Amino acid sequence: MTSDCGVYTLSELTTMGWTTDDIKRARRAETLTPIAHGWVRAAGADSQAVAAVTAGGALSCVSALRFHQAHGHPDIWIPPGHGDTHVRLSKYRKSTPRPSDPFRWCQGYGQPLPVTTAVDTIPVAIGCAARCLAAEEWIAVVDSILYTTEWTIPDLQAEMGRVARSVSAMFDRCDARSQSGTESIVRLRLIANGFDVEVQPSIGGREHADLRTGSLLIECDGESYHSDRAAFGNDRRRDRMTMLDRWMTMRLTYDDVLYGWDDVLEEIRALTRPDRHRIRRRNDPRRIIE
Ligand SMILES: [Zn+2]
Repeated sequence: MTSDCGVYTLSELTTMGWTTDDIKRARRAETLTPIAHGWVRAAGADSQAVAAVTAGGALSCVSALRFHQAHGHPDIWIPPGHGDTHVRLSKYRKSTPRPSDPFRWCQGYGQPLPVTTAVDTIPVAIGCAARCLAAEEWIAVVDSILYTTEWTIPDLQAEMGRVARSVSAMFDRCDARSQSGTESIVRLRLIANGFDVEVQPSIGGREHADLRTGSLLIECDGESYHSDRAAFGNDRRRDRMTMLDRWMTMRLTYDDVLYGWDDVLEEIRALTRPDRHRIRRRNDPRRIIE
């Protein structure tokens, strides 16, 4: 059990130190209520976890990631949309899901796993999400897990069970250095468009920008960035520093990338065109002095 959602198997309760008598007493006092064979809920249990278990599955995929985001892992990036409740069917559930269920039943690409916790662990949840999310969204989610939690790719893979080759291929495109979902998506889209991209290039010897392609540095702001004066001031200082080294800096917001990408891509193409440098040089004041 990684986070307490208030829904337990009897073996989880035993692991937590409950005796059979404790469980019987709690059931009589109705502080634990049975909700499915072998499962009980406590008062105040997570309503989505209760619904998932009652239906014969576990809260999984983006819904489980959202649960973990709210319970100890606030920096896991979750792409916009995907608001349905995603539930993973247990390997041992005999009946098929009903179309009338108020869920999205999802299973990922790997071998079916049993349900042992009401909310899937982070590795099982991302295995499930491999099918529900677009590849770039999935990679950005995994990048954020690698950057902000103690999980590594081998650890995640070890708990995910056997996965399809397409999932292994997506792991190969992940980068633990990425510092925001915005940055991950810009990296993936630039590479897909044929740009050479350096991740976290060194600037001024001691600091790093987010991305570099040619002489263009790209800084990507997360959704809630620049809420404080220190970060704002630091960015301005970095901009001055990179100007001294004759880099250009482009700052992209979350909305620029998620909702205005076509324009951003055209601007990056224009700024990194090989002939741009020559055109600029013709008007370079130093040239006139020479
Ligand atoms: Zn899903």
